[in-house]
Amino acid sequence: MKMTSAHLGSIMDRVKRADNEWKEQLPPDRYQVLRLKGTERAFTGKLLHNDEKGVYVCAGCGVELFRSDDKYDSGSGWPSFFSPISEDRVEERKDDSHGTERTEIVCARCGGHLGHVFDDGPKPTGRRYCVNSLSLDFDKMSK
Ligand code: FE
Repeated sequence: MKMTSAHLGSIMDRVKRADNEWKEQLPPDRYQVLRLKGTERAFTGKLLHNDEKGVYVCAGCGVELFRSDDKYDSGSGWPSFFSPISEDRVEERKDDSHGTERTEIVCARCGGHLGHVFDDGPKPTGRRYCVNSLSLDFDKMSK
């Protein structure tokens, strides 16, 4: 295939890996959440009370997902944001598991499970992106 400018791609080009590759790349607890849609126990996540300025990136593929400015304390026991960095970073999927109707959120780039989004968030969006700490890494803003 001839390389043209159309093949340069963008930051949001999909990252696809086979299951065994994810298993090799990720520590077991992150693999459980990101690839098997697990949930860390409430109030146990490392980033729950992190209030430093910076950016939260996907622990699977590294793409920037959330800003510290959009993080708030929802009381749920999981890091909560009222908005992603941009709409194209987070994909929503209907989730009927556990006998309830919820909206799952995944990284739009690698498909990694992040958590769920609810409509009981604060202004201005009214949304609560409820995210596992294990699905995220934190990049502290350099001064
Ligand atoms: Fe990702």
